[in-house]
Amino acid sequence: MTAALPETSDEQTWLPVTRVLEHAFCPRYTYYEEVLRIPQRQEIRYKVLEGRKVHARRERTNRGYKRKRLGVIEKLEDVALSSETLRLYGRIDEALRLADGTAAPLDYKFSPMPDKPRDYVVHQATAYALLLEETWGLPVRAAYVYYLREPRGHHRIETTPRRRASTRKLIRAMRSVREQACLPEPTRHRSRCRDCSFRTICPQ
Ligand code: SF4
Repeated sequence: MTAALPETSDEQTWLPVTRVLEHAFCPRYTYYEEVLRIPQRQEIRYKVLEGRKVHARRERTNRGYKRKRLGVIEKLEDVALSSETLRLYGRIDEALRLADGTAAPLDYKFSPMPDKPRDYVVHQATAYALLLEETWGLPVRAAYVYYLREPRGHHRIETTPRRRASTRKLIRAMRSVREQACLPEPTRHRSRCRDCSFRTICPQ
């Protein structure tokens, strides 16, 4: 899903929220994409999965069940979000208004549900929560990630102060890579290099 930059915004300072997921996956993505402006030659696995979820929307079932379980009183799909304070923008699959007066972002992944959410998914979900909070002006206590392939299911990701601080720190680090044009340390998860489109140019 692509997101348009907010009309009044400067492309030099704003970043799409997808960069948060990428930076959390490996900080060097920010350097290659934002500093060297190298387009990815091939889709890495999670991006393929992200794209497929668009087609998977038709397969969604039990919408009423999900709404009831989460206490949803209003649901909007494909919602544009932006934050002046974070200079971040994006679109969320669903933005939910809940009976307890809070809001929640809901993101679909066309992948099986892992035992626990990946670190980069947690950062992306927290970033969506921060964006929704600022865009709607409602408190957000949690973000939801629904996995569309077997085993299906969802994770509720609490937007704790610690998680918020960690994601804000990551966004600052991401911006710093772009502004200072410095090559960051590689990901600690070296297995991620296997699926990486930058592996032929990256000094790992
Ligand atoms: S090859 Fe590994 S270290 Fe280099 S950008 Fe890709 S994931 Fe990061």
